Amino acid sequence: MLKVFDHPLITHKLAQLRRKETGIRDFRYNLSEISALMAYEITRDLPMKETDVVTPMGKCRTKELAGIVVLIPVLRAGLGMVEGITNLIPDAKVGHIGMYRKHDTLKPMTYYSKLPENLSDAVVMVLDPMLATGGSATAAIQALKESSARKIKLVCIIGAPEGVNKIEKDHPDVQIYLAGLDEKLNEIGYIVPGLGDAGDRLFGTK
Ligand code: URA
Repeated sequence: MLKVFDHPLITHKLAQLRRKETGIRDFRYNLSEISALMAYEITRDLPMKETDVVTPMGKCRTKELAGIVVLIPVLRAGLGMVEGITNLIPDAKVGHIGMYRKHDTLKPMTYYSKLPENLSDAVVMVLDPMLATGGSATAAIQALKESSARKIKLVCIIGAPEGVNKIEKDHPDVQIYLAGLDEKLNEIGYIVPGLGDAGDRLFGTK
């Protein structure tokens, strides 16, 4: 299940992210903003519960969010997506999974994992800006399922067809959200045209 957002604000901000002249400050800002805009739509089906509130004018029967939202940024680039979403959902819990790709095999290796308890009741959003081979994302999702997560959404900014196909094959129950679906991967597993290395651009490490 794939949804690629087609909204002028998201597309505009994605163009800023892609542009190679965009510096660290604008990269950070636009990544955060796109994440928030996407989250607004992704959370459309969050569970709600009935509640009574008293306004200055009287009683009102209304609804509020029920249940827990958990954000799982995949380290390190996924960190750049957290703040935009927690601005919208301040009660969201945040777990972290650290993965890197072995340069020779491109295989994902877990080097860090710290997850909230009771994932079985939560809506879990895995955050990773780049869905390239899909190796890290599928491993992160597998780890979350082993920790009993049942309702998982994968939120990425740019995806390659290879990554989308891998998630759809390995985890057909997981909804994938993208701001852009690109053409292909290059020989070292980077998305083309993509935006380069999201972690390096976010943290200024190159
Ligand atoms: N990770 C990135 O940061 N960029 C890509 O293009 C692929 C993986």
